[in-house]
Amino acid sequence: MPAKKPPVKPGRSKAATAKAATKSVAKVAGKPAAKRTKQPKPLPPEAVFEVFRRFEAIEPEPKGELEHVNPFTLLVAVVLSAQATDAGVNKATRALFKIADTPEKMVALGEEAIRDYVKTIGLYRTKAKNVFLLSQQLIAEHGSVVPQDRDALEKLPGVGRKTANVVLNMAFGEHTIAVDTHLFRVSNRVPLAPGKTPLAVELGLLKIVPPRFGRHAHHWLILHGRYICKARKPECWRCPINDLCRFEPKTKGP
Ligand code: SF4
Repeated sequence: MPAKKPPVKPGRSKAATAKAATKSVAKVAGKPAAKRTKQPKPLPPEAVFEVFRRFEAIEPEPKGELEHVNPFTLLVAVVLSAQATDAGVNKATRALFKIADTPEKMVALGEEAIRDYVKTIGLYRTKAKNVFLLSQQLIAEHGSVVPQDRDALEKLPGVGRKTANVVLNMAFGEHTIAVDTHLFRVSNRVPLAPGKTPLAVELGLLKIVPPRFGRHAHHWLILHGRYICKARKPECWRCPINDLCRFEPKTKGP
């Protein structure tokens, strides 16, 4: 039986996230831990540069897939995306953001109505409550503006390190790395910055990603993991970094 995916989402306890991440490391090689070959050494700096150079050549301006119209709606969308697909979140937020694209409008709408808009998303009761409370907190403590500050962001209800990283990167252009399950897998497989926890991978990548690629690195890696370096069967035969990647055995065709 394959191990379950390790959802790396805001709001999980540190212990639960670390446990899920450890399971994922076992899954990365695609066979039981006892039979796994030794983890290859991480790529040297020239190869890391080449990986990102190729990603940049293919997609110079990668975008996240969560729809939003301003930093506030981005924050709300990311909070709603925990353990849900971007497509599922977009379906719910299209209508919600038409009538509530500021903290004031979200508070005026009220928790119950927010819940109605997001009820197709998993954990919607808790998420609706968090969206309502974080909107109140933005009004009371930040003049209705999303703060460009990690500590302040992480004090908002429902906002963890990953959500803060997404907002700091997408709304403010900071060179942060938001580690989701796709990015975690790619970083361990290639390997770029191997690690047993999302935080270890994040900190490792921050050390090795050349500054030129810092803004878009996490989007390239997430998209690569989502569409090519897939969990069950990576599509190595069409992978643009196949010759650089040290993962074995590589897949030969569909
Ligand atoms: S060669 Fe295969 S394992 Fe390596 S990054 Fe590409 S898809 Fe992933």
